[in-house]
Amino acid sequence: MKKILFRIFKILAVLIAIGGISLYGYWRYGLVSVSQLRENVYLVSATFFGQPLGANVVAIDTADGWVVVDTQLALLGIPVKVALTSINHQPVHTTIVTHWHPDHTGGNAVIGKNATRIAHAQTSVWMSTVQQATGLTTPTSIHRFEPLSAGALPTKTLVEDSSLLIGEYSFHLELPEPAHTGGDIVVLMPDTNIVHLGDILWPNSFTFADVEHGGRVAGTIKVLEHYANTAADDTLFVSGHGPAIDRQALLAHIASLHLAYADIEQLLKSGTGDEALPDTQQPEHLARLVTPLIPVWRWTEMMSADFKP
Ligand SMILES: [Zn+2]
Repeated sequence: MKKILFRIFKILAVLIAIGGISLYGYWRYGLVSVSQLRENVYLVSATFFGQPLGANVVAIDTADGWVVVDTQLALLGIPVKVALTSINHQPVHTTIVTHWHPDHTGGNAVIGKNATRIAHAQTSVWMSTVQQATGLTTPTSIHRFEPLSAGALPTKTLVEDSSLLIGEYSFHLELPEPAHTGGDIVVLMPDTNIVHLGDILWPNSFTFADVEHGGRVAGTIKVLEHYANTAADDTLFVSGHGPAIDRQALLAHIASLHLAYADIEQLLKSGTGDEALPDTQQPEHLARLVTPLIPVWRWTEMMSADFKP
C-alpha cells in the first residue's frame, strides 16, 4: 500500500513540475510576439489565451543600444526584455513612456534598468504617487494604483518638446495639448517615418480620455488631426493598443470620430441621456466605434468634460 501511495505521489510531483515549467515557459517566452514595423524598428505585443494583454512596446535597435517606447505591464517586463535580447543582445539606452498608465510604464524597472528613463514631468508625478481611476469597469468602480518603485521612475522629465539623437536615429518628443491624459508624449521618428501616438489613438474605437488626469476627448481628436495633417503619406501611426495604421486609415478614423462626436454633443446639449442611443440601435458610424471597454455611456461621460466651463 505504502509503495502504491509513493508511486502516485511521484507521478503527481512529476506532473506538477511539468505543469509549472510549461506555465513558466509560456509566461516567459510565449506571451509576447514581435513584428517588424520598419528596418530596426520592432513592435512587441502580448496576448493571453488569444486576448490582447497590456500595451504595445515599440523598440528601436540603434547603434547606441535599444530605445524603447512604453514598457508594458510590470509582469511583462522580463518577457519583453527577453524578446529584445533575442534580437540584439545590447543594453537598453533609453525608455520613453507615452503616459502614466500602468500598462505603459509597469516594465520600466526591468526594461529601463540602468537606462535613461524619459517621461512628461506631469506623468512623472503620477508615476510616483498613488493614483485612482473611477469608472474603469462600471460607472462607479474605483481602482487604486500604487506608486512605481524608485528604479522605475523617470530620470529625465520633459516640460516642453525635446529632440534626441541616439545612435543614428533622431527622436522628436512632443507634448501635445491634453488628449489621452494631461501628460502625453507623442514620439516622432522622422528617419523611419513613424509617429507613436500612444493611447491618443485607438484604432476602430472611440478615443479614450482619462478625464481625471486631465485627458479630453476633443483634445484627442484635435491632436490626431494635427498629426494626420502634418505627416507624410507613407507615415506609419502606432497606437498604444492594436495595429499600426497608415495615414489614409487615420483620416478615415478621424472622420468617424467627428460624426460620433457630433451625435453625442447633440445629446449632451439637449439634455437627453445616452439611453437615447442604446448599444443595439446606434447609427452605423457610432456602432463601429463601440468596444467592450468604451461603450457609448463611457464616451458620453468622457465627452461631457469638454462642455464643462
Ligand atoms: Zn492609457
